[in-house]
Amino acid sequence: MAWLVMIASLILVTWIVSLFTILILSFFPFTNHRAAPLRKRNNVLLVIAHPDDESMFFTPTINFLTSRRHNVQVLCLSIGDADGKGNIRKKELFQACVALKVPMQQVKIVNHPDLQDGFGKVWNHSLLANIIEEQITSHCINMIITFDNYGVSGHCNHRDVHYGVRQLLYDTLQKDIDVWELVSTNILRKYSGPIDIWLTMIWAMLHSSGTIQYFVNEHPRRSYRAMAQHASQWVWFRKLFVTLSSYTYVNTLRKIQH
Ligand SMILES: [Zn+2]
Repeated sequence: MAWLVMIASLILVTWIVSLFTILILSFFPFTNHRAAPLRKRNNVLLVIAHPDDESMFFTPTINFLTSRRHNVQVLCLSIGDADGKGNIRKKELFQACVALKVPMQQVKIVNHPDLQDGFGKVWNHSLLANIIEEQITSHCINMIITFDNYGVSGHCNHRDVHYGVRQLLYDTLQKDIDVWELVSTNILRKYSGPIDIWLTMIWAMLHSSGTIQYFVNEHPRRSYRAMAQHASQWVWFRKLFVTLSSYTYVNTLRKIQH
């Protein structure tokens, strides 16, 4: 029993120290200096599958970009209608983006009959590529950020979004666009909250070629406010997820070579 209490105490202390480290880092934005290659890319397209993906997974990245006056466009490829709440969730996404300092007019939500939210719903990669390409053209996009091939949670819609972006790269050879994917971590890291900052920093140090970037969340309260805008989804287990998830505190992006 004593060793169990010791381990729990150790985790608690590490958690608190990590959280303080992130708060300190968030006061010194220059600590994200490794992100220099991203600074040259001003028109950024964040491609997600469902309303709330931006707040659950990408807020450290969004906060970094909006704080530096990047023009962030959000493309959400479904209205999240799996439970019949699509119209409510659309409005919630607009509100969450405003909380994240992304103006409503920079948010596009697609409601296509072949791109409906749900496990087992297969999304056509060429269709996704066409929709993403339209956004790129109309907003002069020079950087895309999206899920990696596991999509953080393994949701098939997240994974299809990744392959849609891949399809676009394959079809059109968009050499002048940088594409970055959000790195999915194992379950221990995923639920290690702020503690993951240490592993993230070590991992990024081992990849000094500029293909890995990490962002510490500079505005954690803003992230929490954004998630709370998704009132239809803001149930106890999502509150727990947002608190425990390392994606609330830090994002690691990997450049897709193409
Ligand atoms: Zn999702």
